[in-house]
This record gives sequence, structure tokens and C-alpha cells, in this order.
Amino acid sequence: MVETKSAQAKKQFYADGHTLPKCVNDGCTKDVVVREWKNWSIKSECTSCIDCRKNKKYTIQNNKKIIKKGSKRSIINDIIIHKKDFCENFNSHLGFKCPVNKEEWSNFAESLDLDHLDGDHMNNFPINVKTYCKLCHNRKSKQTGDWNSNKPSRRKID
Ligand SMILES: [Zn+2]
Ligand SMILES: [Zn+2]
Repeated sequence: MVETKSAQAKKQFYADGHTLPKCVNDGCTKDVVVREWKNWSIKSECTSCIDCRKNKKYTIQNNKKIIKKGSKRSIINDIIIHKKDFCENFNSHLGFKCPVNKEEWSNFAESLDLDHLDGDHMNNFPINVKTYCKLCHNRKSKQTGDWNSNKPSRRKID
């Protein structure tokens, strides 16, 4: 039987000595979820955290979204959700201005992504993971050539 490209890529990932980074959320000890093995495309959060965040299974304390221990069987610690409700480029730190006001994001939360500041998906430390809107994210990727510096996914698999 011929292995799928995805299975080959997965094998190669581990053969090259990589391990999946941990979920970016403070208090969570799980591995991030893989979006697509073929390009070594990985997310910043684990499946449980994504599920809790998307389905609003959290409580808000001091402006932080906390996933309470036991709110999902697989969650054993209180977890603080890292993703923000606004584009973190509101202060133009990417070198250009976010076209949307910080206050307006509540109506467009689905247009906010988690992005790795340095373009390296394996570098999943909270300080390197930012919430950017799709507009800022695209522009940043173009300017910094994220796709070129994204080492793992640059491997030629085809
Ligand atoms: Zn998690
Ligand atoms: Zn933005």
C-alpha cells in the first residue's frame, strides 16, 4: 500500500527529531493540534482549548477568559486563553496601522487569527503568539516573507 503524503510528512516530522510544541494557553500541558501534516501546518492551541474557546466554555475573571478545571473531562488545570478579542496591531507595532478600531472587533471575532510573530510555528511560546486580524496577518506575511522563513513547512514533500 502506498503511504499518503500526509502520512509520509508525519513520519518525516518525527524522524527529523521534531516534537509538537505545547498549547500556547497558560496552564495547558497538551500538544498543539496539527492542521495539516502535509505542510507541517500546526495550530497554536490544542483541540480541547479550541473547543472551549469556540463554544464559550469559559468564565471571565479580570478580563481574562479562564477555562475552568473539569469544564471538559480532559482539562485538569484552570487554563487562561491566550487569544485576544482584538487585533494586537492596534498600536501599529507591525509598522503599519490596523484599519479597524480596537473597539469594533467584538462583532468580527471570526476574522482574528493567532499568528507566530517570527513566522516559526514551532516557536509557540506565548510571547511569540499574537492575535492579528486577517488584514494585518496577510500584510505582515507578505512583508516579512513568513512563508519563506517558516522553516518546517518549507520542506519539499511533493
Ligand atoms: Zn490547550
Ligand atoms: Zn489588524
